[in-house]
Amino acid sequence: MNKDTAVCPEYAARLSSAGDLIRKASNEIQRKNLEKKNLVWLELTGCSGNIISMLNGANPDLKYLITQMVNMKYSNSLMAAEGEAAMEQLMNIGMEDYILAVEGAVSTKENGIYNIIGRWKGEPLTALKAVKLLGEKAAHVIALGACATHGGVSAAMPNPADCVGVQAVLDKKVIKLPGCPCHPDWFTGTLAHILLYGEPELDQKDRPLLFYSTLIHDRCPRRAFFDKGIFATKLGENTCMFKLGCRGPVTRVDCPIRKWNDYVNWPIQDDTPCIGCAQFGFPDRMEPFISYNTTREG
Ligand code: SF4
Repeated sequence: MNKDTAVCPEYAARLSSAGDLIRKASNEIQRKNLEKKNLVWLELTGCSGNIISMLNGANPDLKYLITQMVNMKYSNSLMAAEGEAAMEQLMNIGMEDYILAVEGAVSTKENGIYNIIGRWKGEPLTALKAVKLLGEKAAHVIALGACATHGGVSAAMPNPADCVGVQAVLDKKVIKLPGCPCHPDWFTGTLAHILLYGEPELDQKDRPLLFYSTLIHDRCPRRAFFDKGIFATKLGENTCMFKLGCRGPVTRVDCPIRKWNDYVNWPIQDDTPCIGCAQFGFPDRMEPFISYNTTREG
């Protein structure tokens, strides 16, 4: 933890929010006051960046999560089973209580045939069919990452496979954790909250307020430069990057206090404008990611 987060009570509380929830849930499971839940993780149309982000989790790490917190029933990147055996494991979950996590967009063109996740009883199982089938029966559905929450990169123009977010094909509440990728804490914290208390408080777009309550711009360490009108004119200048196209003023998430890769750094600290990856509409509505038109108005 750097000295900024050590001295500010709000920073410290926010940063520890996911870890505290996980520890509490884990303790309750060990005391047998709480049962582990089954977790199914579907990877649909995308880059699998969210499961990779989870593998980089530190508070707790993924091994702790899947051994102490949940019974991971299906994850095509992590499970040992393959082929029909894996599909059987996936399809049999419908008889049990489970939480469904989805990363990647749902390809809908030609009834979903552009994304087949396996074969079941000799028939191709499309991502579209799998998410509808498993989503309807799940106790909770969590969409992680830009593609699952609203289509994201997979739905960027010209969107050849007619990709959409999970909510567009499910007639039930989908908790949304946008970001490209989703931070491990956003998922593990949400999961722990569900285990302990049920669904966390959400905003109007179904994002947990725990992580998505505040604009990046409102907690940015360079905000004083913005307020004084001191703007960077090229990358590498240590002032406000608004005129280089920074999307911090419209992106609602806690990167400035949470940071990435074991809480080491984040784009603005590294002189890179925020590209709004956690904002609905990313990437098309957040482009251009960098601009040298320094006439941008405040
Ligand atoms: S760098 Fe971006 S987020 Fe930070 S103050 Fe400037 S415009 Fe706002």
